[in-house]
Amino acid sequence: MASLSLFDPIDAPDPPAPGATVAPDREAPGYGFFDAMAAAARVKLGAPPEWEWYAAKLLPGDDTLLEGGIPNRRQDGTPRKQGKERWAGVKGTQVVVTLAEIAAACDVYERETGRCSDCAGAGERIKSISVHTGRTWRPCTRCGATGRAPTVEG
Ligand SMILES: [Zn+2]
Repeated sequence: MASLSLFDPIDAPDPPAPGATVAPDREAPGYGFFDAMAAAARVKLGAPPEWEWYAAKLLPGDDTLLEGGIPNRRQDGTPRKQGKERWAGVKGTQVVVTLAEIAAACDVYERETGRCSDCAGAGERIKSISVHTGRTWRPCTRCGATGRAPTVEG
């Protein structure tokens, strides 16, 4: 019988045997600063989950001006992939989001998913990207490489 790790997510498989190497989950569903900005904008605008931003401008201080809207969809309901068709005729809305609002969106993400918002539960973050060496990774410092949301108890 496997012992329970302090940091195991609820639905995680049994912990690896002592001494075994754990492969970080680099394919874990992502969440990042751009997603958090979009979530913060939706909260501020009272916009539905379909709202996305397509332009961002950094303002003095920590504020960001976002412009976005609800992109066009095909007849079958799937999003259009091409940028021009996707946003053709869409009237954009501008909204300023603060760093505190983005952080609040990260907190919501962590509460809802139990995943660390910095690494999206992967336990690792990209350290560098290079044409010559590809991607290199480092342990996520926010969650101590557990992938688990540090703000969520239990
Ligand atoms: Zn993390």
